[in-house]
Amino acid sequence: MCHSYTVANHHYCYQCNQARASLPACASAISFVALAVKGEQLARDLWAYKNRWSLAARTRPQLGLAALLWRWLAHHEECLAKTAGVDGFTVVTTVPSTTGRPQHPLDAIVGTAIGATTKRFRPLLHPSGRCDDDRQFSAKRFEMNTPAQAINTTPVLLIDDTFTSGAHAQSAAARLIDAGYGPVAIVCVGRHFNRNPKGKEFHDGAERYYRDARRLGWDWSRCCLCSQQHV
Ligand SMILES: [Zn+2]
Ligand SMILES: [Zn+2]
Repeated sequence: MCHSYTVANHHYCYQCNQARASLPACASAISFVALAVKGEQLARDLWAYKNRWSLAARTRPQLGLAALLWRWLAHHEECLAKTAGVDGFTVVTTVPSTTGRPQHPLDAIVGTAIGATTKRFRPLLHPSGRCDDDRQFSAKRFEMNTPAQAINTTPVLLIDDTFTSGAHAQSAAARLIDAGYGPVAIVCVGRHFNRNPKGKEFHDGAERYYRDARRLGWDWSRCCLCSQQHV
């Protein structure tokens, strides 16, 4: 589900198993623009675009990430739609920040910068404050901004910047489905990747995955849904 590595012949990683066990429904499709390897450029930009102190220092990575996501969606939004079994997404929304940051730059990117998403953007969710554990999968993590309406079967493209455990994005998807939207497909710009997890088995698994991903490389014509090649 999350395109990470597994160990000891498990079919799903720990987090995906947790999501499957905890949530009434998960996203129908998940894709990522690229691996965001801790310490490398994409991971640094995904931190800098919202956390750098000065506006000027945040603007450069914001423009870069907007351009990256815009072009990626032009190539691969249809891969998400095909996997989710729909013709396209009428609504695009974001996973809200749980840090309480007002006017999150991801909303500005999706709502005003990317021509392909601005007209479809609806800020549907806000954090409920009812889920303290950052990695816990729970549809209660988010609330709808407006009460549920009869909008059944509206396919939603749910966008987030970084996918770590998946708890935020999958919980947001579950909340949307609970409110009558769906199917929901998730795209995250960066799939957070730590090359040095604790424990030898995990460390070896991560290194193997990283080496294979490097060998496979990255280009605009492939995403993890349409590519025949996988790590
Ligand atoms: Zn997984
Ligand atoms: Zn694709």
